[in-house]
Amino acid sequence: MDDVDLLVHGDFLYPVSDGMPIVAGGEVAIADTRILYAGPRKPDGSWRAGRVVGGAGKAILPGFVNAHCHTASLIFRSQTDDHAARSALFDVAFRMEKDVSDEEWALLAELGCADMLRAGVTAINDIWYAPHRLAETVERCGLRAQIANKVFDVRLEALRDGDYAHDAARGERRLRDGVDFVARWHGAAAGRITGRIGAHATDTCAPELHRAARVEATRLGVGLHIHAAQSLGETEQIRAAHGCGPLEYLRDLGVLGPDVVLAHLTYATDADLDAVRETGARYAHCPTIYPRRGRYPRLEDILARDIVAGFGTDWMMNDPFEGMRNAMNAMRLRLGDPSALDCARALWMHTMGAARVIGLDAEIGSLEPGKKADLILVDIDRPHLQPYYGAYAALVYYARASEVVTSVIDGQIVLEDGRPTRLDEPAARAAVAGRTPDWRRRLEMLGSRAVFGPGCACCL
Ligand SMILES: [Zn+2]
Repeated sequence: MDDVDLLVHGDFLYPVSDGMPIVAGGEVAIADTRILYAGPRKPDGSWRAGRVVGGAGKAILPGFVNAHCHTASLIFRSQTDDHAARSALFDVAFRMEKDVSDEEWALLAELGCADMLRAGVTAINDIWYAPHRLAETVERCGLRAQIANKVFDVRLEALRDGDYAHDAARGERRLRDGVDFVARWHGAAAGRITGRIGAHATDTCAPELHRAARVEATRLGVGLHIHAAQSLGETEQIRAAHGCGPLEYLRDLGVLGPDVVLAHLTYATDADLDAVRETGARYAHCPTIYPRRGRYPRLEDILARDIVAGFGTDWMMNDPFEGMRNAMNAMRLRLGDPSALDCARALWMHTMGAARVIGLDAEIGSLEPGKKADLILVDIDRPHLQPYYGAYAALVYYARASEVVTSVIDGQIVLEDGRPTRLDEPAARAAVAGRTPDWRRRLEMLGSRAVFGPGCACCL
């Protein structure tokens, strides 16, 4: 009989491991922070467990890995959803962001972390403002996170007027803040928190700032996190200024490599995708935002090039189940092929695939002995999931984030009965609700259409 700290039981175990299919009647044994065993349930008495969770009516799967997100971005919920990417960024987000304080980002991050945990996300790769404040919440709530400060040197609010004046001092200051963040937080919370250098986007940093960010990331031994080919405004700006696509541009600057996470690639050309493949840079694909913006990235061409790719949630919406289904639906509609992107592959891309994207696939992304114990329990004892036959399709096509009832990260229970165990979620909700009238007023001053609804005379 072996001693373990935590024993997790489920009717079905989805290891998402190459060597192991779905297991009916599975268990995961956890010692300290790591998985000791994952497989068919052993006879009673095989383990002496500190605690047992799960059981009948539960499915066990790896926690979702979120390869690209902005945890505190929920301030923009319902404010950009009818916009093209360019307008969402240039007209609303970029003009609002500059006046949001670190204190406000901190309380938004608190609620955002609760949202991530409830959605079954166990690891995030975040680039945003006030990274220290997000890190403090992550440390407390038990999430695993890679975090980067948002580095840029333009006046984001001026981009809508075509003003791309680069201010070197602003860029240096924001990069220095990013470096300080990594120095303080990389490896913190017993390794749950790691840092990245976040060069916001191809067009919002001057070439010198992109190179400087690359130098700092290499010196610190961390990766880069960059938005690339996200909007038409960005790609047109890069082509006008540099005569090539955004990814060709980053490659020619010497910025790209296997430690670079590229978000979006929505407007990437063949030459751009070849640049990504040549350099080994990795791709975070965020399936829920693209249909909303009316343009879906060429995921089939990206996968055909063997570019390492996984899913993220980007901003405002954090349901991985919705994301997997959006990806499958979009690919099938795009290609007219119902076999495009099957559900096992979709689950892989939000777990192992996303873990590869952020360079943590040796530690997380699947349930295998030796890996970190990051897993979730899904309540499959719900009417809309019956009869539950146990296939990937049973979970990926039919389950929702609201069925995630337990989350274990680093061997610790951080979500129980569907509620974060280490966050005061009611207080976080109340804090956000208390600020909402002020945010509404500020958004109204920007003319944000969704404050009143489409069709309003004040609309952008
Ligand atoms: Zn993003």
